[in-house]
Amino acid sequence: MQTLVSVGELRTRLSAWRQGGARIALVPTMGNLHEGHLELVRLAAREAERVVVSIFVNPTQFGPSEDFASYPRTPEADRAALAAEGVDAVFLPEEAEVYPLGRSAATQIRIPALMDDLCGRGRPGHFEGVATVVLRLLNMVGPDVAVFGQKDYQQQLVIRHLVRDLNVVTRILVAPISREADGLARSSRNQYLDPGERARAPALYAALRTVAAGLAEGGQSAAALCDAAMAGLQEAGLAPEYLEVRDAATLAPADPVRRPWVVLAAARLGRARLIDNLLIP
Ligand code: AMP
Repeated sequence: MQTLVSVGELRTRLSAWRQGGARIALVPTMGNLHEGHLELVRLAAREAERVVVSIFVNPTQFGPSEDFASYPRTPEADRAALAAEGVDAVFLPEEAEVYPLGRSAATQIRIPALMDDLCGRGRPGHFEGVATVVLRLLNMVGPDVAVFGQKDYQQQLVIRHLVRDLNVVTRILVAPISREADGLARSSRNQYLDPGERARAPALYAALRTVAAGLAEGGQSAAALCDAAMAGLQEAGLAPEYLEVRDAATLAPADPVRRPWVVLAAARLGRARLIDNLLIP
């Protein structure tokens, strides 16, 4: 497995692979890899002959009071896990490689209809940071396919939107949410939970499932089901930010005659901010 830190050496390596006829898949990550990331890598390997995984803790997607400084960084363990998966290259750029003109001069990308709601409300500027780094990585690698996780539902919609709107040729694939045995969605931030919090954390996914079951049963409105689920989360000791049923394609308010829907939630628990979602076919 190659470890590459500059765009120059990345491009040299990629063009040799392309000349050999290989398709290239990119899996962008912030590192501290867990089984959920490795499932993205496996999906990438089924779609392309060469797999590149990027590891970059992107400063522009963190708010000023968020965990950029303390975000877990484990490059050696990550490299070992990726090598064991047969990944061809890990791209570990420095900030100056990703933001060559400096962060303050960085080109902004805004998609108001998708970025300002739900997680964008609690994390202003977050999706602008995600979009700018993902577009940079897509331009650096020029992959045939890039793989993201459904865990970050709003994020994958932002990425699909910018790729369609800006005519980026990369095909976007989204892998299902990887969960612990008790239902908690895997996340690098789960390690912020102390044992008591960790025991309460599966309440988030349970709340989504309760709402989905209520919708399937009928009789109660989505709003009433979400209100009850929010109250349940509070009783379980979580501090919910939002829990809503939305149109799965646009995140607009759910329309009774337009499916699929998605139930999305975010909640604080101790030092962690947990997110999760569930598609309603
Ligand atoms: P991150 O390193 O947290 O930025 O995540 C990198 C990629 O992995 C993103 O596309 C995430 O959506 C995806 N991902 C993270 N956790 C999970 C999970 N539990 N299941 C599926 N995909 C995930």
